Amino acid sequence: MELLTKAVRGTQDILPKDSYKRRFVAELMLNEASLYGFKEIRTPVFEHTELFDRGVGDGTDIVQKEMYTFKDRGGRSLTLKPEGTVSAARLMLEHGLFNDVLPIKLMYITPCYRYEKPQSGRYREFYQFGVEMFGSGAPVADAEIICLAKTLFDRLGISNLTLEINSIGCPICRKNYQAALKKYFYENKDNLCTTCIDRLERNPMRIIDCKNLGCKKISQNAPNIIDFLCDDCSEHFDEVQRYLDRSKIEYRINPKIVRGLDYYTKTVFEFVSQADSQRSLVCGGGGRYDGLIEEIGGPFMPAVGFGVGLERLLLLMESQKIDIPKPKSCDVFIAAIGEEANLKSFELAKTLREKSFYVELDVEQRGLKAQLKYANKINAQFCLVIGDSELEKGMAELKDMNSGEKFEVSLEHERFVEIFSRLFGAKN
Ligand code: ATP
Ligand code: MG
Repeated sequence: MELLTKAVRGTQDILPKDSYKRRFVAELMLNEASLYGFKEIRTPVFEHTELFDRGVGDGTDIVQKEMYTFKDRGGRSLTLKPEGTVSAARLMLEHGLFNDVLPIKLMYITPCYRYEKPQSGRYREFYQFGVEMFGSGAPVADAEIICLAKTLFDRLGISNLTLEINSIGCPICRKNYQAALKKYFYENKDNLCTTCIDRLERNPMRIIDCKNLGCKKISQNAPNIIDFLCDDCSEHFDEVQRYLDRSKIEYRINPKIVRGLDYYTKTVFEFVSQADSQRSLVCGGGGRYDGLIEEIGGPFMPAVGFGVGLERLLLLMESQKIDIPKPKSCDVFIAAIGEEANLKSFELAKTLREKSFYVELDVEQRGLKAQLKYANKINAQFCLVIGDSELEKGMAELKDMNSGEKFEVSLEHERFVEIFSRLFGAKN
């Protein structure tokens, strides 16, 4: 029975006292990205497993350890989205969006699923906000994405974030780098964790990403990709920085940011909270992935994007005591006594809501005292009381719940709306 009243481990219920915060953050991000021309997409919660095997990469932790994969009743292998980028890429290809004007700018908020050990800021169901720009390989596209990401944090009021950038080059510059890395790590093999020893041959770059302290320490003195960039990649990186410098977007070059997959290219960036010692738990990041579209069966198409976890944003905002505007409280509560008054209050509430006022009424046919108590509890700004005598007179008393001031108002709809709008406007 216990299972019936317990949400699945690693998932969260969002209660009324918190849901407005998510809505605020989500709307702010979507609105801000709209200013750059991003258009919202929605993709299904599950996709063919192959898409993630290819698109996320079957050598990654996500694919190897974290995916929720299952067979449906038709025997297909499906997977709950562990992230948003590859689904956006699949959508773009499937619907031929690349036949339209380039670049294609897509944004989304999507639930993601990863089988990880739940802890603060780490859940099995979480939400990602993401933007993806397909079809431009220009450095200014990278700068646009970074600028948008930075602006989002600024607009949310988040401080103490450092933007760290790096370039991980292209497959051409990576050849020499991989060789140098291998050599270095073989020399220090004894201090690597077993997973990283495994990575030595297949993908030495991923060792730099390892969270094991011993591996981290050795990685510190490992060769940096930035010293191995080809002319094209090096120029690209300089150009991105020129745009950031010109717009006074502060950043730090961190040569240790890597992505262990071939289709990630050139620019990578992360936002790190200085107050957080566990830097990996922080916020979001992004970069270029010029090889992804080909990897999942499309034409060559450069792309750059950014993703951030909503829960981590909210945690960060909470820790920085950032105020999120509360939803507005009830504009007017209509208390009614008697059947006719109930009908009248229902009708009046409908009329007021058509004018976008927030109106509540009593649905329990409680006594006047209980109704007023409820009006107080929901913080109604005004309260209107309708009973038989008010109906007879066609007039009722409207009370300003804060000042206690009372007004005699007509119950004739148009008249009431007019007077109420005026009184309400004077207060708000
Ligand atoms: P981490 O190093 O913390 O595991 P990651 O590299 O797996 O992060 P990405 O795959 O880049 O993260 O996902 C983008 C963003 O999604 C992260 O920056 C983070 O904000 C958020 N995120 C990732 N995994 C989780 C999770 N399990 N719970 C909540 N948010 C998450
Ligand atoms: Mg992870």
